[in-house]
Amino acid sequence: MAIQESFLRCTACDQEAEHVVVYAGRFVSEIQCSGCGAVTRLDVSEDYLPDLRQRISSKPRRLARRLRRDPGELATSLPQRTLSKPLRMAEEFRTVWRSRRNG
Ligand SMILES: [Zn+2]
Repeated sequence: MAIQESFLRCTACDQEAEHVVVYAGRFVSEIQCSGCGAVTRLDVSEDYLPDLRQRISSKPRRLARRLRRDPGELATSLPQRTLSKPLRMAEEFRTVWRSRRNG
């Protein structure tokens, strides 16, 4: 959910005013006029849900395409990214353990 401000002509009060635009994914789901407060809601569920489903289901395919294109790139970038967190945690744990024994 992202919020953006845009200068638009309001359909309710017919004034040019700041509008708060709320996004659901890449779809506009709500527009509020800061001048008169009129809220326009757009039903994005029919567009948003299939889009979300497609985005999720296409992820492994995108990864597989990357792997086919450049296996070396993925092999070097993926384990690093997945390993960096446990390594950082182990380092933190060691630091905490050391300070505990010394203090
Ligand atoms: Zn308005």
